[in-house]
Amino acid sequence: MSAPPAPPSASRVAVYPGSFDPITRGHADIVERSLRFADRVIVAVAVNAAKQPLFSVEERLALIRRAVSHPSVEVRSFDGLLVDFARRAGATMIVRGLRAVSDFEYEFQMALMNRNLEPALETVFLVPALDLTYLSSSLVREVARHGGDVSQLVHSAVLQALRDKFAK
Ligand code: ADP
Repeated sequence: MSAPPAPPSASRVAVYPGSFDPITRGHADIVERSLRFADRVIVAVAVNAAKQPLFSVEERLALIRRAVSHPSVEVRSFDGLLVDFARRAGATMIVRGLRAVSDFEYEFQMALMNRNLEPALETVFLVPALDLTYLSSSLVREVARHGGDVSQLVHSAVLQALRDKFAK
């Protein structure tokens, strides 16, 4: 075994990376589930994603803090390689959500690449509540852009932010 088990007293830190543009109830569900096995969860907003985001990094951080306020949850942004960020943060786990088979190929590739870069870091896949499996940030953005009701899918702070964004 390359990575010895952590001593019982060590706190188990998980990093949950993503775009979170914006955070949805699906993301929040994954954070909650992570807290069942991690002492601390760092929600990490990727700054260098190739996508053109709707919300700025600062806006996304603020919305995540509103949506998942919990003493064991920290919200940070990161630039560069996730494995470097995780190492600096003292994390031993990367958490990712798996919704459908369509997520699998990309997630599998990324997990293997991250293992290649940092063998001591374990990727953990979590499945959300059934009614949240169809939910994605891109779908929320599209529905909200056209004035559809997403109030059941996001935190009230996110709902307001979407209204403000599309009212402009
Ligand atoms: P990325 O651009 O890295 O995919 P996202 O913010 O879209 O960033 O997603 C971050 C992580 O959260 C991914 O692992 C994604 O599969 C997961 N995720 C997103 N929405 C849901 C959901 N409704 N249920 C479970 N996991 C989800």
